[in-house]
Amino acid sequence: MQQASNWQNWSGSIPPAKARLARPDDIDDLKKLLINATGPVRPVGSGHSSPHLVPNDHLILQLDQFNHIGAIDTDKKRAWLGAGARLHDLSPQLADHGYAFRNLGDIDVQTLAGSTSTGTHGTGQSLQALHGEITGMRLVTGTGETLEISAQQNTDWLDGARVALGALGVITEMEVQLVERHKLHRRMWAEKHDTLLARAHSLWAENRNFEFFYIPFSGYSFGLTHNIVEADDTPRAPDTSDAEVMQLKSLRDWLSWLPAARKYLLARAIGNSPTAEDVIGESWQLLSSQRNVLFNEMEYHLPVETGLDAMEEIRHYIERHRRDIFFPFEARRTKGDNGWLSPFQGGERISIAVHCYHKDAYDFLFTHIEPIFQKHGGRPHWGKLNSLTHDKAQALYPDFDKFKALRHTLDPQGRLLNPYLAALFGEQI
Ligand SMILES: Cc1cc2nc3c(=O)[nH]c(=O)nc-3n(C[C@H](O)[C@H](O)[C@H](O)COP(=O)(O)OP(=O)(O)OC[C@H]3O[C@@H](n4cnc5c(N)ncnc54)[C@H](O)[C@@H]3O)c2cc1C
Repeated sequence: MQQASNWQNWSGSIPPAKARLARPDDIDDLKKLLINATGPVRPVGSGHSSPHLVPNDHLILQLDQFNHIGAIDTDKKRAWLGAGARLHDLSPQLADHGYAFRNLGDIDVQTLAGSTSTGTHGTGQSLQALHGEITGMRLVTGTGETLEISAQQNTDWLDGARVALGALGVITEMEVQLVERHKLHRRMWAEKHDTLLARAHSLWAENRNFEFFYIPFSGYSFGLTHNIVEADDTPRAPDTSDAEVMQLKSLRDWLSWLPAARKYLLARAIGNSPTAEDVIGESWQLLSSQRNVLFNEMEYHLPVETGLDAMEEIRHYIERHRRDIFFPFEARRTKGDNGWLSPFQGGERISIAVHCYHKDAYDFLFTHIEPIFQKHGGRPHWGKLNSLTHDKAQALYPDFDKFKALRHTLDPQGRLLNPYLAALFGEQI
């Protein structure tokens, strides 16, 4: 089935796409769409990325129908999963089989292929991003051929295909390393930012998952840990984080011209915060939350030695010059992997994220925040705002040219390129 699309990304930062949207029913349908295409073809997941990875004026492919749970290898705890499935649909089904994803990010509404294709990560010093758990994939290449990349076939390409921005082919199925389903103990608390910052490295070392959120203009952060436990679930209060973000916005709206009063009220509100949590539940029910207040975001992945310095420099800049900012900043840590385009290639990284309300101007992220990230050796999140060019990507990724060569092999006619990707890979369309 095909229809005219006004496709837009989640935050609405990308203007509506002119391309038609097709939802192939099966592999044959998908192959036909690729072979018969007379212009660019771009796969889309749930549209949560901000760069112009998807828009084009010809055809967008959404793989909603590819959402099954396939063969499960119970010895190795691996499963073949439909690439267009939403993570939040997969988790309860995997739990029924006794399995879970090892880790998840802040939200789980993304598709499996969409999230892995941009290097989506959670937090945990000993935990890789989701693409690090891929043990195989099946795709339809730019030439319309089916291809398996796995431990049995085309194994040398697996690290190239982990994070691929939809530029190698349309992924239909992925084999993912899972773990046994498990319970987590989730704890969230407020703490003076300086003391939490000083403890951050030990909290990462001591906890399975640790991250923290700095509340701008408050001097306070919220720490969040998850650790495996064997215990009964405890009741969880309703998620009020959207309402709390809107309270931060109200304080910004009324008091941005009076920073001392803003800080006083924030400190009082945080002291009484209902956000503090202490609960036990299934991993997939606790790791991800809902994010319903729309924002635009820049996140960079930095070397462990410089990540927190970059965060502090950004915090000082924003508190001195950008009283309009109210979204919490986020600090996470992820183990390294071997993906050719993985931001975590070569070793673990600290990820720092800055968010702007979707109705607010965010150009300062490019003019003032990104240079700080770059100065500290950061690599951008592929799915979030960034100004990465071909030359900068080549300098940041030792395997960038290997990826380009693989891309050329699998899509020699450039069917999967839109203007954004053509510029990124230094190709003509
Ligand atoms: C509210 C919010 C919270 C977020 N939280 C986190 C977080 O905690 N951690 C984190 O790392 N990121 C996070 N992100 C970023 C998000 O995970 C990424 O942008 C992710 O790529 C979105 O997945 P998607 O399914 O929406 O994919 P899309 O944004 O639709 O697509 C992303 C890329 O995948 C490609 N793609 C999609 N489907 C296929 C396919 N079948 N075959 C080949 N390529 C395909 C697309 O072409 C595109 O290049 C967040 C984003 C938002 C808006």
